[in-house]
Amino acid sequence: MPSTTAPSSSTATIIVPMLCNGKWQTSGSSRQSAVFNPSTGQVIATVPLASKAEVDEVVRAAAAALPAWSATPVVERCRVLFKFRELLLARFEELARLVTREHGKTLVEARASVQRGIEVVEFACGMPSMIMGQTLPDIARGVDCETVRHPVGVCVGITPFNFPAMVPMWMFPVAIACGNTFILKPSEKVPLSANLLGEILTEAGCPAGVFNIVHGDKEAVDALLTHGLVAAISFVGSTAIARYVYETGTRHGKRVQAAGGAKNHLIIMPDADLGQAVAALQASAFGCAGERCMAGSVAVPVGNVSDPLVYALCETAARMTVGPTDTGAAVDMGPVISAAHRDRVAGYLDTARGEGAAVALDGRRDIPAGPGFFLRPTVIDRVQPGMKVATEEIFGPVLSVVRASSLEQALDVGRRSPYGNGASIFTSSGHAARQFKQHFNAGMIGINVGVPAPMAWFPFTGWNQSFFGDLHVQGTESIQFYTRQKTVTTRWFASAGESHQDPVWRQK
Ligand code: NAD
Repeated sequence: MPSTTAPSSSTATIIVPMLCNGKWQTSGSSRQSAVFNPSTGQVIATVPLASKAEVDEVVRAAAAALPAWSATPVVERCRVLFKFRELLLARFEELARLVTREHGKTLVEARASVQRGIEVVEFACGMPSMIMGQTLPDIARGVDCETVRHPVGVCVGITPFNFPAMVPMWMFPVAIACGNTFILKPSEKVPLSANLLGEILTEAGCPAGVFNIVHGDKEAVDALLTHGLVAAISFVGSTAIARYVYETGTRHGKRVQAAGGAKNHLIIMPDADLGQAVAALQASAFGCAGERCMAGSVAVPVGNVSDPLVYALCETAARMTVGPTDTGAAVDMGPVISAAHRDRVAGYLDTARGEGAAVALDGRRDIPAGPGFFLRPTVIDRVQPGMKVATEEIFGPVLSVVRASSLEQALDVGRRSPYGNGASIFTSSGHAARQFKQHFNAGMIGINVGVPAPMAWFPFTGWNQSFFGDLHVQGTESIQFYTRQKTVTTRWFASAGESHQDPVWRQK
């Protein structure tokens, strides 16, 4: 790979370089992909898609950096992360604006996502306390036993388009704090924010080869999943690819955590505070243009709350301002990621009508002029549990409403979903909340909370087809994922003339 200068996050159209062994390099690959600003529909960068040979070069760099980095005391590794956090705060606005530019979410949403990512760095900064083992002296007479955590080796992160900075930060701060080296393969749709993270981490003093970035598509992913020097794979993306990554990675002897897609249910009980529930549903379903794995996508109003809920929701959502997010003008919702994705999402409205549902608010109407990839908030009412809009992940600003007559029926709607990421209930009844908490078939539960996404200190516990693997990202599960345990059993023999001493007890 020929060398290039450091990446630029601000120039108009750039060829996106990769980070290999501390150097920014331009891929020699003949295959490329365009990076768009979804607000304007214009190409802002070109990302070369790495070949298998280029992936091999990056993996070898990460493997070569492993012995020195894993032998670096954890407190020193964390000092790099403390500095990284400091620099992230200094360049917070630049990073958030870049997220907005290549993804399209509003600046408010981009800032919040960067903040969530920084919290994972803060979590990882505490690694010296968290990576400690356990000790039991005298497990037998004169024999001590302890556990020690070791890094697993070269770790890989493969990430989706919808959180260009936050999702990569779910992974690499913890992995490198644990003493691993890391290769990030960001979504080819949003490679710029990842490169800015690489630039900042390098400036923070991260040694060459400890954090690397390879850009690419299936060819690069397959090369990573099958490479003999890769020990662990973290994946976040759609369910079909998550399953593929999990099956392929584990078949090649890797530890894999693979988070997939979602269809998240929001149950509204008749005793809910309607105003609060509508505001939470609106933010959950239409925030980030619905491109969140924790977005509420099926509202399940119970009993006589259904009519007032749908009416209030349509009224509020219709008032949302939609438009370009990179002009400085405040809007409530930005574009979706691409023209193809906009058309796919819009296609679900015809599907819903064809299946007998009613489009109560049509997001194809009154979209902003210009070439950006816009839709407006959409509400589909009278959806039956088996319909496509009730079961398939749409990943756009579309909320399906499945009316239920009881909490039990509402729980059953959830039970029929193949996914199991998040779900929330809106109620003032402790009993209903408890029933929901205990019995809803999903891994992240909210009570009067629209987006029950856990913060850095808790694991991101998707269930069913929303997750493949055993240990999730975030929280202490992530430390278990990025380390192997060793148990050490020790017995020392007394030399001639030495004898075991009884413990010294304080004499009064
Ligand atoms: P995606 O599955 O298309 O892509 C994710 C990653 O996989 C990208 O890096 C991409 O390059 C790679 N990839 C794509 N096709 C591949 C293939 N055939 N073989 C190997 N690798 C491939 O997902 P996306 O569209 O970028 O992101 C949206 C999806 O991510 C949604 O389904 C969303 O629910 C999910 N997501 C899940 C979580 C979670 O925590 N569960 C969080 C964020 C996003």
